[in-house]
This record gives sequence, structure tokens and C-alpha cells, in this order.
Amino acid sequence: MKTIDKFDFNKKKVIIRVDFNVPIENNIVTDNSRILAAKNTIDKVLDDGGSCILISHLGRPKGFDINFSMSIIHSEVEKVLSRKVILSKDVIGEDALNKSNNLLQGQILLIENLRFHPEEVSGEINFAKKLSSMADCYINDAFGTAHRAHASTAVIAQFFKEKFFGLLLQKEVNSIDKVMKNGEKPILAILGGAKISSKIPIVNNIIDVVDHIIIGGGMSFTFIKALGGKIGSSICEDEMMPIALKILKTAKNKNVKIHLPSDVICSKEFSNESESKTFEISNIPNDFQGMDAGRKTIENFYEIVIKSKTILWNGPVGVFEFSNFSNGTKQLGNAIAKSTAEGAFSLVGGGDSVAAVKKFGLQSKVSYVSTGGGAMLESLEGKILPGIKALQN
Ligand code: AMP
Repeated sequence: MKTIDKFDFNKKKVIIRVDFNVPIENNIVTDNSRILAAKNTIDKVLDDGGSCILISHLGRPKGFDINFSMSIIHSEVEKVLSRKVILSKDVIGEDALNKSNNLLQGQILLIENLRFHPEEVSGEINFAKKLSSMADCYINDAFGTAHRAHASTAVIAQFFKEKFFGLLLQKEVNSIDKVMKNGEKPILAILGGAKISSKIPIVNNIIDVVDHIIIGGGMSFTFIKALGGKIGSSICEDEMMPIALKILKTAKNKNVKIHLPSDVICSKEFSNESESKTFEISNIPNDFQGMDAGRKTIENFYEIVIKSKTILWNGPVGVFEFSNFSNGTKQLGNAIAKSTAEGAFSLVGGGDSVAAVKKFGLQSKVSYVSTGGGAMLESLEGKILPGIKALQN
């Protein structure tokens, strides 16, 4: 992995692919964490005496659309970076080329939204070449889009001799490796969420690496039903039952312990206000559905989490968006935080578990919270991401 720490960017013009695809409401950035996440890499280049050309997409515009212009986030970028930022009016047009040509040491240029050109998403080579012509070096620090083979994330890299992993990308890759390649044993994966079908490629990949798998939340009911349990009206993918049984068999053969919930808090309706009652998970009455992990389940999961030295968490173990059914996910998060404080490495990645960690204020109590949803999931599936592969060629 070619990292930026030992390279001197003095007098270099550096194009940095960042992920500034931030949420916006009424022209205001509602969460600037993605901008903040790129700050260390930008600071390193500028502190060395280089200049930065920042390229990113914002939303999913179809051609030019003022509602997706980088001008909307310009002042927020300046605020977060605590530096003045020059903005270009186009992507590879006269304005961008002039401004990048005239860029001085210590200056930052933010290029207009890459996705104003369809060539970005189609990975068109001449578009990538034109972008590359603005700079001497290339850094990719956009983990969130590293699973896309777009012009700015993958195709562009071939035009540079000097190409690097940004500090954020490096951290993401190292965190995944800390679980998948050199995790200290016992290694635990916690998989939750609504559907087993979306998690199968992950299970198939991690089963060769981990010692324990906790399966919680909605996806556990497919396993319980496949094993002959009565799951009432809980969420279930009947067509996945043979696969669930196959996973249990493979795990047994590989000596991987699978842990399923033992009791579950249920309700009659899928709503926060619906009256709740706890049942054994294999014996849920027809008119009830499982919503959250029960007390015995939480205790059991706690014991496993606390004994693990490496923990990967993907997916909530209940409908955590409803306050009355969020306790299981919250307690699981607390257990992971405790285990981390006692020396375990914990990685939270992919969609809703990240949202849960944020909701319960546990970001600083786990080892690493991934910034990339789809990119994280594809990494856990064992895929080599195009954005990462391009840096290695
Ligand atoms: P996923 O995107 O597959 O990780 O699923 C996340 C979603 O799973 C969250 O919105 C949770 O509310 C949902 N979920 C977790 N447990 C259950 C459950 N027992 N029944 C229905 N949905 C659930």
C-alpha cells in the first residue's frame, strides 16, 4: 500500500478524490463528517507545500443541475478545513483548467460536481485523462465510492506514476485487515438486520476467518423457522431456509460457533406503541412478531462479546429505530464498547449498525466506525474494490 505519510508533496499539484457527498437540506449541509474525514489528508499535502485539487460527486444529478452544485457546500468545506477554497464553475472545462493551472502552493481548488458529466459514472477514459492533466499526483481518499469503477475513483489512476492511499482510505483498509487478515482470536462477527439474503456473501466469506457468529435481528427468524421453530408473524425469507441450514452445517464443519437468540420481545403490530411481550424464540404465537432481543439473549450475547478479542458488527439485533425495541441493539453496542475498553479491536461497518452506534453515542467507544456502506459490505464479501485495485497497479 503506497501511503502519503513518507512522501513529500512540496510544490506538487495533487488531485484528491474525496467523498463530499454530504446530506443537504434547504441548501444547508446537515452532517459534515465526510468533509472532516478528508481533512488530515488535505492538511498533509498543504503542510508539505503542495496544492490540492479536490474532486467529488454530490448526489445523483443527471447532467448539470444547480441543486447539486458544489457551490452549495463550498462555505461548509471552507469552515471545516479552516482554509479558503477556490471553486471552479465546471469540471474539465476552461474554468477548471485555468484555475488548476494557476493554483499556487498552499491553495485548494474544489472542482464542480463530477457527476455533471455522465462520463464519470461510465468510467470514460478520456474524461479521466483530462481530469488527470490538472495534477502531478493522485490520492484516493474516498472509501465510500471505492467500490465503484468510476472515472475519478479507478480509471484516472493509470495516468499517474505517483498515486497514493489517502489517510482515510488507509485507515479503512487497515481496519478491515485487522479483522479479516490478522485478527486476534477469538474473532466474532455479529450479523443483524432485516434480511439474510443480503448478508449471505458476507457469511460465506467470513466463515473461514471467524470463531463465532452471532445472528440477531430479523434475519435470525429464517434460521429459527428452518430449524422447526414457530416464529409467529416475524419477518422471514422462506426461500432462504435451505441456505440457512447450509450455513449452520458449514459452520459446524469448520468449527465456527453460530449463536442465535433464545428469547425475543414481540408485538402484535410493527409499531413502537404496540403492546409487547417476551417469548421463547421458537415458540412465538401466530399473532405476534419478533421485534427485539430478549433479556436472556442479551445476556448470552454479552458473554460472547466480552470474551472476544476481535469484533465485527454489521446490522442491528432489533427494530432499533423504535425506542421501545431499541434496547437489545443498545445493550449489544454497550457490550462491544466494554470489550473494546478491555483491549478488543472492534469494527462497526455497513449501514444500520453505524446509525445505531451514532444514535447511542458509542462512536468513540469502538475501535473504528467505517465511513463506507456499500464499500464496506463488498470488502467483507471478499471483493477487491476497483478504487483500491487501481492504486496497486
Ligand atoms: P439491514 O439493512 O438488512 O441491515 O437491516 C436493517 C434493518 O433491520 C433495520 O431497519 C431494523 O429495523 C431491521 N430489523 C432488525 N430486526 C428486525 C426485526 N426483528 N423485524 C423487522 N425488522 C428488523
